Amino acid sequence: MRVALVACLLAAAPLGAAGKPKKVLFVGIDGCRYDAVQYSQAKHLKELAAGGAVSERCDVLGARKTGADTSTGPGWSAALTGAWADKHRVLDNTFKNHNLSDYPTFLARYKQARPAARVAAFVTWAPFRDHVFDRSAWCEFVLDGDKMGYEVGDKCVAHSAAKGLANTDLDAAFVYFGNTDSAGHGYGFHPKAPKYTNSIEAVDEYVGLVLKAVRGRKTYANEDWLVIVCTDHGGKGRGHSLGEKEPEIRTGFLILHGPSVVAGAIKEQTQNVDVAVTALAHLGVPVKPEWRLDGRAVGLKK
Ligand SMILES: [Zn+2]
Repeated sequence: MRVALVACLLAAAPLGAAGKPKKVLFVGIDGCRYDAVQYSQAKHLKELAAGGAVSERCDVLGARKTGADTSTGPGWSAALTGAWADKHRVLDNTFKNHNLSDYPTFLARYKQARPAARVAAFVTWAPFRDHVFDRSAWCEFVLDGDKMGYEVGDKCVAHSAAKGLANTDLDAAFVYFGNTDSAGHGYGFHPKAPKYTNSIEAVDEYVGLVLKAVRGRKTYANEDWLVIVCTDHGGKGRGHSLGEKEPEIRTGFLILHGPSVVAGAIKEQTQNVDVAVTALAHLGVPVKPEWRLDGRAVGLKK
């Protein structure tokens, strides 16, 4: 496996509780309804939720009219950048005329704030490589899920990410799984659709693999990891487009887990844009007003 990373030459990671370096693992599960997670046998996700902070209603679109569809491009762009689509201008999966150069991902922001940081993204969706992470050398594009299928793609991502997280001094990583969305389109986005919940359980096994890699790191006892899990949209029937008025589509979820988290239900309304800002808060990167981000840090101890 090749993870292209900038050599760590300068400062150490910012120190967290008890002086431990702060790190982030962001797991993205495409088209994953939380009611289906709860209905499934997804033990790793349920353990993260039980021991962490949870929002079962995370808005993927935001209150403003932005013109964005309830689709993958806008959903992940919001979570990764902390801004809504009227700013990053990813309105659909074409990424046409996007403005991600003005709204980089939290991984890129972290690199800007701390050039010595090691960050990585393990993905199978080609637009991540082509549009979202294309300005940096650290995107690990495992294979093209649209061409190879996301079932095999997710498996490769899981093993690639586990290897990278176990053996590399990563500070922040995005790990993306896409087969839940494929299963929803094929068999229905619904807790009672067995192949959909089976796909969630398969991803859950990969989440377990990645978590085991993190927790098995030699330095894990002296690190302060924040694990974030969310989705980009839900689904209804066999689709998720044009879901502004469909709660099953525009309502995602947010799970936060780690020593820096206030465990329990997150009382405030959460939004996908909160993901990037929460990650930056944990990593000790102050959000500048001129970045014009829409998200807020949620679920973390003060
Ligand atoms: Zn999606």
